[in-house]
Amino acid sequence: MVEEVYDVAIIGGGPAGMTAGIYAGRAHLKACILEGMSTGGQMFTTAVIENYPGYDSIDGPALTQAMEEQVRRWDVKILYMHVTGLKRQADLFAIEVLSGETIHAKTVIAAAGSKPRRLGVPGENEFQGRGVSYCATCDGAFFRGKSVAVVGGGDSAVEEGLYLTRFVDKVTIIHRRDQLRASRHLQERAFANPKIEFIWDSVVEAIEGHQAVEQLRVKNVKTGAVTTLPADGVFIYVGMLPNSEFLQGVVELDPWGYVVAGEDTVTSEPGIFAAGDIRTKSLRQIVTAVADGAVAAMAAEKYLGERGL
Ligand code: NAP
Repeated sequence: MVEEVYDVAIIGGGPAGMTAGIYAGRAHLKACILEGMSTGGQMFTTAVIENYPGYDSIDGPALTQAMEEQVRRWDVKILYMHVTGLKRQADLFAIEVLSGETIHAKTVIAAAGSKPRRLGVPGENEFQGRGVSYCATCDGAFFRGKSVAVVGGGDSAVEEGLYLTRFVDKVTIIHRRDQLRASRHLQERAFANPKIEFIWDSVVEAIEGHQAVEQLRVKNVKTGAVTTLPADGVFIYVGMLPNSEFLQGVVELDPWGYVVAGEDTVTSEPGIFAAGDIRTKSLRQIVTAVADGAVAAMAAEKYLGERGL
């Protein structure tokens, strides 16, 4: 016997999920947001956001708090539950969560985002929290006056590398090619920053130390030469992996695990919509995530209306 049924269950409380919540609440849908950690997702752990309209610069936690307050004003429940599985049960979706409970909903908006990809080298697991980090906002201040390495060449690596220069004496960005992927203006700022150095065409082979990180073994992929870089910490920004495990076998995923859905957020399974970084899309940003959240909530409302649910 199903006791409580939501019109829409939103999985993930990042910018996509919270916006879907605001739109669902405004449409008088009975909505909940299922969030496994804390709201905001990657936005929460971003130090400085300079490309969200209306704010020249705002920190991730502040923007997260503003969005969460707005969600709560629309009577949308935020349930701190980690979703492990999802299946259709007649007209409803049964959403399994880690605590063993099941949440029932007529529609689902998958907005679970993505997580940092790991390097997969010796020392990475061993030294996590003892010099290995995936979040400069969280851990940067622990490295005041020290030398750190950043691995990666995308927007995240360069942006967070720049942020780290507030605390540390030296940031060495290690990139596997000789050209950055990051946007031009971030590149220019990094090249102009005297605290930032680059090691090009190189990959980290191992992270070494005793109690904490002390050095990295770095291999030049062109020459094969292996060198040692002293570092008190290493921040890893080598891309993201979608949090779509709970959707395997439920909706179509692309070869990288992203949920296949167009701008209309419609997935291969009627009644399930995908919003934000979890979806196949060309630009993963807060602004595109919030846009998806709005579209998905309206798509869910239309789906319910058309079926008289
Ligand atoms: P990304 O754009 O996918 O970049 C990942 C970087 O890591 C690339 O430079 C890649 O090298 C490198 N890499 C991947 N696997 C590696 C490995 N095994 N070893 C060494 N290096 C490896 O990821 P991201 O920087 O996390 O950004 C994710 C998305 O968020 C992007 O769409 C980005 O534009 C967006 N974002 C935007 C902003 C902003 O607008 N300010 C800030 C942060 C993120 P290659 O270049 O050789 O592939």
